Amino acid sequence: MTIITPYLPKFAELAINEHYKSTKMPAFLKAVDLNPNYTGYCQNCAGLGMIFVQFAEKGPFHEIPMTRKAITYFDGDGISGKGWYIIEKTENFTCPHCKGESRVAVEPAKLPIDGDRKYHKPQSLDRELGRLKVTA
Ligand SMILES: [Zn+2]
Repeated sequence: MTIITPYLPKFAELAINEHYKSTKMPAFLKAVDLNPNYTGYCQNCAGLGMIFVQFAEKGPFHEIPMTRKAITYFDGDGISGKGWYIIEKTENFTCPHCKGESRVAVEPAKLPIDGDRKYHKPQSLDRELGRLKVTA
């Protein structure tokens, strides 16, 4: 399995930028677990048909915060610090590569290189995608 960070539709990037401008809080792009040998599914979203983005509300905290809301751990990137973040909301965006069809076989070479995938990846949650609750 290969952990990849999917690329986003343009309006999702705008929503993330807007969130940062108004709150100074980061947004976290959920990484997906991809089997590179299995090309039956979209290689951007790993067949989910959508991309999940978590918008942070507070953080970072050194200790796990007491809250009923979702939390995530982030290693920090020089702009947003290292620690736990409380998530205000999680949104899903239709995958821009397969348009939500998820089963479209696409060439990995046509996807953007990692340098273009500039949003945060909370590494500790890489494998928790299935448990993610989507709240608008
Ligand atoms: Zn896709």
